[in-house]
Amino acid sequence: MPKTKLKILIATPEAVPFAKTGGLADVTGALPKALSDLGHQVKVILPKYKMVDETKLDLHQVNINVPEIPLGEKKGKINLKSCRFSDSEVEYLFIVNDKYYNRDKLYMDKATGFDYVDNDERFILFARGTLEVLKALDWQPDIIHANDWQSALIPAYLKTLYAGDPFFSGTATVFSIHNIAYQGNFPKDSFAKIGVAKDLFYPTSAFEFWGNVNFLKVGISYADVLSTVSERYAVEIQSSSEFGFGLEGVLRTRNPDLYGIVNGIDYEEWSPEKDKFIPYCYSEKGLSGKQKNKRALLEKCNLPKTRKRVPLIGIISRLADQKGFDILAEISDKLLSLNLQMVVLGTGDEKYHKLFKQMAKKYPQKMSVNFRFDNALAHLIEAGADMFLMPSRYEPCGLNQLYSLKYGTVPIVRETGGLADTIQDYNPETGEGTGFVFKNYDSDELLEAIKRAFQVYSNKGIWTKLMKNGMQKDFSWEASARKYENLYQRALQK
Ligand code: ADP
Repeated sequence: MPKTKLKILIATPEAVPFAKTGGLADVTGALPKALSDLGHQVKVILPKYKMVDETKLDLHQVNINVPEIPLGEKKGKINLKSCRFSDSEVEYLFIVNDKYYNRDKLYMDKATGFDYVDNDERFILFARGTLEVLKALDWQPDIIHANDWQSALIPAYLKTLYAGDPFFSGTATVFSIHNIAYQGNFPKDSFAKIGVAKDLFYPTSAFEFWGNVNFLKVGISYADVLSTVSERYAVEIQSSSEFGFGLEGVLRTRNPDLYGIVNGIDYEEWSPEKDKFIPYCYSEKGLSGKQKNKRALLEKCNLPKTRKRVPLIGIISRLADQKGFDILAEISDKLLSLNLQMVVLGTGDEKYHKLFKQMAKKYPQKMSVNFRFDNALAHLIEAGADMFLMPSRYEPCGLNQLYSLKYGTVPIVRETGGLADTIQDYNPETGEGTGFVFKNYDSDELLEAIKRAFQVYSNKGIWTKLMKNGMQKDFSWEASARKYENLYQRALQK
């Protein structure tokens, strides 16, 4: 009989509400609670960054003795802190080492604009430290669910350095890839710091990637089971270098063990009925609040409030190449000559800051740009905009299109990854569909999709029906958490 109630450790570099740079944090914030609600015993472990705000959290010191972690010639000392919240049984553990983690940004050096040069050491310490913490706590998980390259060494350690350790004899690993473009690729010298047997580094080995050490490849090679955050993305990343970023071949060798599970969303945080960040709550049955939020959003963003129905497009995004703003740039004038308004919230690459700044300068009545991370404004945009734009080149899952559905904000998306799996193109003949989907990464197709959306928007009755189609969709975590449960069972059977 398989064990049904599992001890699960989620190892992650970020999690809501502690530290967030992207969608991964939303997942590792919500999934543990959903697993705990299904009856599992769940702990989450992450580094104690500066961003983990002790003034707002009740963190306490856990008195355990963890041996120093070798990092090549150096060593890293770690302490442990923990906290819980009243609304769930999940325990959060924080690996403390101020030298490595108490910094302004999670991965990137503000001073240089590049990744911290010691990111290899920081996440070797995290991976190996995690295993030592478990031993010091005497807490033997059935499953370690590691996420992204920063946790990717954990599955490898269990099959190498810790392979003979009886403490972990019952522990299986699941490794989730949230975005394969971020791989943790380091020079060969990093290999010695990992501390596994020297003969594991040779051309084409799990630890070697074109002469470098690639942490993501290590995780992909050693984990018992692999997952990524949508079914379509699981196929795409094996298909070509365009999506697999050089790891497509390794992934193909793991094809039977690779699964796609679409992310859920946390409806406690993202529901227009009870959203604490928006001035007017509303629901599918009473949509008048949405109109009021639109006015509030326009006011906040210094855009004119018009009498006529003018479509308002929202964008909330990291401003990165992945997100499709180069094709938006190609049609910016054609787009902004249409009768519309746009609100953009995001931070990232300087070239996109410049692009949006120029657009806003040229069309100040139509466009508002906000270069910051602002959760409250993100909620107001979801509530106030009529449409939400995600023209991504690739999108592992994407969360904002799911929030948009719930808020009756019709998504306009490219057919890729999780966007393809979650948004159905509107069919005017049948009235079915939840958004507007374009196939190729092409600016004309993007413009065409936006124009289709505007045409439907001009008929209020039909548009309202389309909004409701989306609002009725359910992407709650429970269904996805059950799929992870199945994955954990598969890993345990390996
Ligand atoms: P990714 O993980 O690639 O950044 P996702 O759509 O999966 O994209 O998740 C992005 C998450 O980060 C969403 O919760 C989104 O609302 C949030 N987000 C991104 N940029 C900002 C910003 N500037 N301000 C507030 N929230 C943001």
